[in-house]
Amino acid sequence: MEYKNLGKSGLKVSRISFGSWLTFGKQIGDTTAEDLMTIAYDNGINFFDNAEIYARGQSEIVMGEILKKKGWRRDSYIVSSKAFFGLGGKDLPITAKGLNRKHLVEACEQALQRLQVDYLDLYFCHRPDKETPIEETVWTMHNLIQQGKILYWGTSEWSAQEIMEAHMIAKQYNLIGPTMEQPQYNMLHRDKMEVEYSQIFKTVGLGTTIWSPLASGVLTGKYNDGFPKDTRLNIEGLEWLKDTSLAEAHLERVRNLTSFSQELGTTMPLLGLSWCLKNDNVSTMILGASKTSQLEENLKVFDVIPLLTDEVMEKIDTILNNKPVDPAFL
Ligand code: NDP
Repeated sequence: MEYKNLGKSGLKVSRISFGSWLTFGKQIGDTTAEDLMTIAYDNGINFFDNAEIYARGQSEIVMGEILKKKGWRRDSYIVSSKAFFGLGGKDLPITAKGLNRKHLVEACEQALQRLQVDYLDLYFCHRPDKETPIEETVWTMHNLIQQGKILYWGTSEWSAQEIMEAHMIAKQYNLIGPTMEQPQYNMLHRDKMEVEYSQIFKTVGLGTTIWSPLASGVLTGKYNDGFPKDTRLNIEGLEWLKDTSLAEAHLERVRNLTSFSQELGTTMPLLGLSWCLKNDNVSTMILGASKTSQLEENLKVFDVIPLLTDEVMEKIDTILNNKPVDPAFL
């Protein structure tokens, strides 16, 4: 396993990590969840990602039970939660969501209880909150760190401008600013990681815990020729994900990449994952899996990275034809 500092922090995170969105407490049983976490941990994965909204809190409950049962040393793994959406649902009070002080503090307490841990290693603002001043969020995160309830705080899907505003406020008041961001990054979604954050990586520094490295499974090639049963895109209520994921332009790219992966002597999932890790600004890539066989395959990603020579990366770019252009170089 390879490890990397999380941005400019001293925290060493495994370059691949494991998350529970749509799976724990929802798509898979608790025994499979335990098997997956065990395989991950036994192979050197030291970061487990979660959020209050995942299965409306149930995902954190399942993960907390597993952490307790396994009895792994608390200093051997990193666990996260994210706040913003609350627990979802129609009856959610307006005070139970967002990045205001009340919700961030309460969501942290609730995550600690569900995960059965004394502190969260990483605590993310799951989305920007246009209705809360960033100053209030920065102060709250700083105070949670001072109280020992969280160790590092970060953002998810914030713009570069919002991240820099948080840094400016932190600097102004001598507070601890954000360490990491959790953006989507994969062969089909490249802008934030390859263009938008490029200055932040060089200046204040930014650890990244990238999500959906396989674009929810589309980059495995499993949707190339139809729609298999027993996948997340069949989950009720996820029609939005199905519609956005299965755009013909995406599928066309993946069909061509699947042929190329075979020429290279690897598989489409491993090509998609190894391509993400070629980006040095990726601190850790969060894997998702609904079956142990998927995780076992994905753990072989480090074997494929040497195949990705400059020439191969260029060929992939030609097939993808979606390389984002930095406006500074137009
Ligand atoms: P991926 O894009 O890698 O999708 C994972 C899914 O792809 C699996 O559950 C499985 O789906 C399929 N799959 C994975 N490997 C294989 C394989 N080898 N062969 C065939 N199918 C495979 O990641 P996720 O979308 O799950 O995201 C990873 C993590 O990122 C989440 O758990 C969460 O922690 C985080 N995340 C954060 C978000 C944010 O807003 N901050 C948003 C989304 C995710 P199937 O069951 O369909 O077969």
